[in-house]
Amino acid sequence: MIHSPQQKRAFITGITGQDGSYLAELLLSKGYLVYGLVRRVAFEDEAHRMPRIAHLLDRIELIPGSLESFPSLYGAIRKTQPDEVYHLAAQSYVSTSFDDEFSTLNANINGTHNMLAACRDLAPQARFYFAATSEMFGRPTQVPQDESTPFLPSSAYGISKVAGFHLTKNYRETYGIFACSGILYNHESPRRGFEFVTRKITSHAAMIKHGVKKQLELGNLDARRDWGHAREYMEAVWAMLQQKQPKDYVICTGRLHSVREFCRTAFERLGLDYREHVVSSDKFFRTDPEQLVGNPALATKDLGWHSRVSFQDLVYEMVDHDLAYYKAK
Ligand code: GDP
Repeated sequence: MIHSPQQKRAFITGITGQDGSYLAELLLSKGYLVYGLVRRVAFEDEAHRMPRIAHLLDRIELIPGSLESFPSLYGAIRKTQPDEVYHLAAQSYVSTSFDDEFSTLNANINGTHNMLAACRDLAPQARFYFAATSEMFGRPTQVPQDESTPFLPSSAYGISKVAGFHLTKNYRETYGIFACSGILYNHESPRRGFEFVTRKITSHAAMIKHGVKKQLELGNLDARRDWGHAREYMEAVWAMLQQKQPKDYVICTGRLHSVREFCRTAFERLGLDYREHVVSSDKFFRTDPEQLVGNPALATKDLGWHSRVSFQDLVYEMVDHDLAYYKAK
């Protein structure tokens, strides 16, 4: 990669994921040199193993390494000398985390600790972002939640993120690192994994429209979430690292919608009635928080950020994408 000395350098873990890919695009558009940490095995078949960043591969540099290996992270930070570090990588799918508590806790907590320690040693001036999550609130007693709401995590994933949040805070307070956490509520897009309810709905609605599926089995249709668009959440993440002081921020829309509303909007977009295709099955039921909804006031005040993509536009974008995706298949 050819670069000029004044170009800012960003290092992203989790660059192959939904958020990492949007963040990489955003940083490239701002003129950054973008480096991403990727597991060695992914290099074997880049375009297929990294579909979300396939269109960026000639503009970013991927560094092989693993969050569980401190030496590999150390080497990656030494090589890239970042000005900004975005630590997004984690084992993140909530419903399986009880099946695999040990690896979720180990990978997420040690991974964050390794990243912070490597940065402190080799790039103490770098600004550090940790991807925290509304899962840390578990089943909250306070509605809406904000930066002062106590954490009551109810999954191994949530617990691992609370630990990461406190490690990040500790490096800020003890070692003076510019380190902050974004407490992001559910954020979706056409790049969302198929195991999440939003993409499950839009992909199935598209397949039903194309006549290759008849039915969609979901869990609790009355479960509600505060859903936003991943692309614009990454704008807030970048803005956090541009502030004078490092602070933690809740990033959310502040609005709840049900799985049922998501289904209705998605199927309507295709001229279908969700009631003829969607069934609710115990198999996918979970014990869900009633009102996991955030208050974005601090982000609006400090970062000038608020969510602009409406719920309907988010659903339509995902459905339209999946309709084309399954047509091309
Ligand atoms: P999460 O917030 O990270 O757990 O994101 P998900 O997209 O997996 O789940 C969002 C909400 O949808 C939760 O309240 C789930 O209980 C609810 N939900 C209802 N049916 C389903 C389903 O079939 N799959 C998933 N993943 N979630 C479902």
